[in-house]
Amino acid sequence: MPWTIGPAVPLQTIMTRLHREMAVGSADVLVGFAAERCEGLHYGVAQLFGRVAMVQTSCLDTAVLSNTTAEAVLSHEIGHLFGAFHPGPSGAGSVMRYGPADRFDSRNARIIRMMRARDFTTGVPGVDEAMRKAWTTIYAEGHASDEPNPLAGAIANAGAALAAEGKMPEAEALIREAVGVDPSAARVHSMLGLLLSEQGRLPEAASELQTAKRLSFRETEARTELGFVLLKLGREEEALVELRDVLRVERRAPRAYVWVGMILARRNRVPEAISALRTAIAVDPTYGPAQLELAGVLDRVGQPAEAWAAAERAHDLGEDVPGALWQRLVDKVPTAPPLPPTCAGAPGPAIDLDRPDAGARAHPGPPRLPAGGRRGPAGGRAADRVAARAERAARLPGAPSVVRLGDPRPVLTAVRLAQPFAPMPSYMPQPPLTLSGVFSYTLVAEPKAPPPPPR
Ligand SMILES: [Zn+2]
Repeated sequence: MPWTIGPAVPLQTIMTRLHREMAVGSADVLVGFAAERCEGLHYGVAQLFGRVAMVQTSCLDTAVLSNTTAEAVLSHEIGHLFGAFHPGPSGAGSVMRYGPADRFDSRNARIIRMMRARDFTTGVPGVDEAMRKAWTTIYAEGHASDEPNPLAGAIANAGAALAAEGKMPEAEALIREAVGVDPSAARVHSMLGLLLSEQGRLPEAASELQTAKRLSFRETEARTELGFVLLKLGREEEALVELRDVLRVERRAPRAYVWVGMILARRNRVPEAISALRTAIAVDPTYGPAQLELAGVLDRVGQPAEAWAAAERAHDLGEDVPGALWQRLVDKVPTAPPLPPTCAGAPGPAIDLDRPDAGARAHPGPPRLPAGGRRGPAGGRAADRVAARAERAARLPGAPSVVRLGDPRPVLTAVRLAQPFAPMPSYMPQPPLTLSGVFSYTLVAEPKAPPPPPR
């Protein structure tokens, strides 16, 4: 069935909306085919032991390389849904590593055969202990060395999904299970740290986030959160060091700039604070908390007109501007327009085609100051916190779930950088994503294998 989505929607959002908007019905899996489109230059996406996959048919080299045809990508992604992983060099030439649609390496063939009868409705929690053990044994025989263990990623993602539903103890149990599967996966420690931080378990959170940082210094989300946790623990100097380090690695981290700005403002280093907050806004103009903090600092230094403008932008971006701030600004700005409606009474947010769900926010919730700070925790509204958590969970899958077919090819990378795709003109009809139903698969790499049961 046809399904359309606006242009330039990130793959993760497409996947989330596929899950939400398309009923799988009696089919085992849902496969989206993106016609005439290549978001993020990924050929396809599927999560290990998941139920939804997507195939993009218009990546730059789809027409050139045999292993990026729609058939090969479809076969590869369906393989992931059955638990197949990227094999090491010994699996080169198979569909899970550069090969054509019908060639499987022996390890993944064993896994797919073992999982042939699996119930797709249960996700990775439905893969029992014995099967996980068998999977782990086969995986240990040889796999791509440059990526985290995908079973650990899938289990952790299942935990994040539970956290988005507010089931914290269950979520924590699953993420700890994922740590057990691959203790060296930085991302999984980050996810555990974020979960603990959200529950206010700060010392435990700091410890997990430190572990994530030790495993990968590029784990900037963990390091940003670590800065926040240290700040909440009253270790302001360490927090500042951590956040400045984040900004050395990742110059486009609005949250880190905002917290640096808040610390500087508390130390009365106002010009530097304003500069940090303005940088956050330059990096991401839609990051409401930066506008809100800027409004507060500008108010403090006697620039009420500019503060008003920032507060209005914060309000338009969905922030809960404190009534006291509005009132102070009204008193100081003689020509101030009438107060905008409160967020709760606003006449409904504008529909963003890319994010039609008004609850889906592009940023991970407002920063929260420790007790004694100007604002209450998390801007107050439970719905916002749930939305922010859902958004965070949607982003958590990150690296382990988005699978690139094959390893990076330097020559093509150069071509990609030199020839970016022009944006599609707005008057052109947007290409549909076509969804299809049930697929049956036959393994043909090993002809002696019994055929799968008829579907
Ligand atoms: Zn893959």
